[in-house]
Amino acid sequence: MSRRFEFDSIGTIHSCFKEKFGIPRQPGLVADATATLELLPPYNRPEVVKGLEGFSHLWLTFVFHAIEQGKWSPTVRPPRLGGNKRVGVFASRSTHRPNPIGLSVVELERVESDAQSVVLHLKGVDLLDGTPVLDIKPYLPYVDAIEQAEGGYASSAPGGRQPVGFSAEAERVLQQHMSDYPRLRILITELLALDPRPAYKQTSESDRIYGMRLLDFDINWRMDTGGILVTQVTKL
Ligand code: SAM
Repeated sequence: MSRRFEFDSIGTIHSCFKEKFGIPRQPGLVADATATLELLPPYNRPEVVKGLEGFSHLWLTFVFHAIEQGKWSPTVRPPRLGGNKRVGVFASRSTHRPNPIGLSVVELERVESDAQSVVLHLKGVDLLDGTPVLDIKPYLPYVDAIEQAEGGYASSAPGGRQPVGFSAEAERVLQQHMSDYPRLRILITELLALDPRPAYKQTSESDRIYGMRLLDFDINWRMDTGGILVTQVTKL
């Protein structure tokens, strides 16, 4: 008989990703994808993270809060299999699962804390802005890094990166905001190189304009001969 548990979130993610589309499918794929994790009362006290600064990486468990709750199916179609072959939900990292709980290993850049606030600065995230975090645990290389582990149908990192170019107009806007957002061009390039389009669309070229919201910008792009062209970058 299954049992019911209730948990409170211990913190909230403030991330560069303002919508789901365009977020990398796993952490660590885009180093410049940054976020902060702000601990909530009563966990916003420096002692709860005492000793954490010695760890380079953390495990975060969190809630996929931005999906339709209660909607899951016993089999799913992972993008790594081209989006057209099914595996069991528990053989996947799908967001639609019986308990919509995510698990990501992220880089801890630094810990910022004072009497009433604790903020963890993170890199390489795959987390939507506003994600509620349930727990933080240090990544322990001696136990968590298993050299001989088998990766099933995802046995290697996603291969192939799309070349990414920028229109003159997009370059102009990036240049204009360079002093406040010095790494924005790198972030866009790294994200789009992964080709965020759904797997089943990746073989076809079309004139469709795609868009995503990143930090304080709307980014538009389309497929172009030989890669991706960022057509517009708009400051909100
Ligand atoms: N690394 C985690 C795991 O394995 O549990 C997440 C993997 S899941 C495939 C990654 C995707 O989850 C991202 O590409 C993004 O679209 C989505 N996502 C991230 N944060 C989310 C949230 N708070 N609610 C719903 N979807 C989210």
